[in-house]
Amino acid sequence: MTVLAKKQIYCLGTVRINRLQGISFENDKALGKKGRGTHQENKALVDDVEVRAKKWMDNKGVTLLSTFASAEPVWELKRYDKKAKAVVTVPCPAVVTEYNKFMGGVDLMDSLISLYRIHTRSKKYYHKIFFHFLDVTVVNCWLLYRRDSSDLDIPERKVMMLQEFKLSLAESLLLEGKNPMAKKRGRPSSNGGTAAQFAKKKKSSPATKPIPAEGVRTDGYHHYPVVTTRGRCKNPDCKSAPVLYCQKCKVHLCITKDKNCFVEFHTK
Ligand SMILES: [Zn+2]
Ligand SMILES: [Zn+2]
Repeated sequence: MTVLAKKQIYCLGTVRINRLQGISFENDKALGKKGRGTHQENKALVDDVEVRAKKWMDNKGVTLLSTFASAEPVWELKRYDKKAKAVVTVPCPAVVTEYNKFMGGVDLMDSLISLYRIHTRSKKYYHKIFFHFLDVTVVNCWLLYRRDSSDLDIPERKVMMLQEFKLSLAESLLLEGKNPMAKKRGRPSSNGGTAAQFAKKKKSSPATKPIPAEGVRTDGYHHYPVVTTRGRCKNPDCKSAPVLYCQKCKVHLCITKDKNCFVEFHTK
């Protein structure tokens, strides 16, 4: 926490009492006698950073450690009291309110990460940390993508689910990796109407090679045309059989006097 605080990242979290060397709080029993909402605070200067430990008595004692929030101001919480059989107000320090406000988001992120977590067999602890943050990044990207999709009024059924999003991202990165000259990462972007058209074209000829993900198709890197044997043009609604072929996407695309499927395919 002190390392983070020095980088101006302040944090707050629950802490086990045995992690707080040399700091003592009264136990739950003693605090319970003083009534619900009783709180105690300890401050310490650790490595030039002021760290506060706070114990607050609800039904059970909660211990929080923070580098930014103080106990003040103290709010009032409404709680049901079993003994009194009535709703009572319980004093609640700001640090607890702050913790409760963001705890839900952290729980949600943990649950989203656990859905398609990267499993590694490595025993090195830092590999686990690395992959954990990769999972965090992917989930956060997906949440941003969903927010953008909703801002753009894209219907829910066209918005990628987390699994789809992750697969599409993986596909983009894998294709990217095949090219040593590549500098920019391919990324999935929001699905417009064209994605559905490409999906239709994909379905109509199941024997042919799949059309790459939109993030790869439109990344604008290393899509060089080569001449090969004739094949069906993969641009939707085009029935020509050109000799021109995209080296990266591995699909046939035509360029004629009247139309340029090669550019259309890679841009829309
Ligand atoms: Zn291409
Ligand atoms: Zn064409």
